[in-house]
Amino acid sequence: MSGQKIVVLGTGGTIAGTSAQAGDNIGYTAAQVGVARLLEAVPGLQAMAGTLLAEQVAQIDSKDMDGEVWRALALRCAHHLTDPEVRGIVITHGTDTLEETAWFLHQVLDARKPVVLTCAMRPATALTPDGPQNLLDAVAVATAPGATGVLTVAAGEVHGARHVQKVHPYRVHAFTSGDVGPLAFVEEGAVRLTQNWPPSLDGKAQIAIEKIANIATWPRVEIVVSHAGATGAVVDVLVRDGVQGLVVACTGNGTIHHALEAALVRAQAAGVKVVRSTRCPLGQVLPKPGDVLADSRGLSPVKARIALMLDLLR
Ligand code: ASP
Repeated sequence: MSGQKIVVLGTGGTIAGTSAQAGDNIGYTAAQVGVARLLEAVPGLQAMAGTLLAEQVAQIDSKDMDGEVWRALALRCAHHLTDPEVRGIVITHGTDTLEETAWFLHQVLDARKPVVLTCAMRPATALTPDGPQNLLDAVAVATAPGATGVLTVAAGEVHGARHVQKVHPYRVHAFTSGDVGPLAFVEEGAVRLTQNWPPSLDGKAQIAIEKIANIATWPRVEIVVSHAGATGAVVDVLVRDGVQGLVVACTGNGTIHHALEAALVRAQAAGVKVVRSTRCPLGQVLPKPGDVLADSRGLSPVKARIALMLDLLR
């Protein structure tokens, strides 16, 4: 049985962004307002003030997310998740790499309690900011009966870490889980589930977090794209530069321009781990007998990169 406390970890993003002009939705600076002030700005959360604990883990534009912030965030989450007083965690985050942080945390946390990432497409100073409602909805999800796993909440939709993707650079409704659809909707504070809560990774995840606490440098994994006129030049340079893993954003069902593929096969023979994902926004690479390069098992290129980094750590 867990307690009632909800920990809200701030990392920055547009949800904490401000602009000099109230009507400006794009010319703003992300990561300006502290997480405690974001909470104060949501009238619906004032009654819960005694149960909300705000903590600033970082204050960045999430386009600049990196392994060090991920490490700090994962360790704070792991710390709070083991506290019997804590019911769940909410993380305020930029939209740009939200899906990557969600997938990273899903891989390293024993999230038997909900870990809910939320964000905004409009800065806090916009005429109609979306952050306050998203924050309110994220707290509703973190307190929903039975909620587990790493989740994202935005525009009234709840998505699981595995499938969520940002698909629009401007619209408030910017996230989708593609073919799989949202896990739930938040409507006037009520959470309406359309699928089961995602299971947590428990034992396997624990190993990863211990390693993360102690590593000096993250394995270097880069993403390359197959396209018309592709060559192997980038791959050859990366191999010379000591890359340990390569994810290929392939065309269609994992196909690669022949010149790029030849370089990738050479890289694999030299000991670099190579994984194929697809640059198609929906669906996944379906493996075939005789495939020379592994596939990402349904992960998008950016999530396949994180999975490969963690595999290299193991
Ligand atoms: N660049 C911002 C960020 O990801 C965008 C946003 O939050 O919507 O931090």
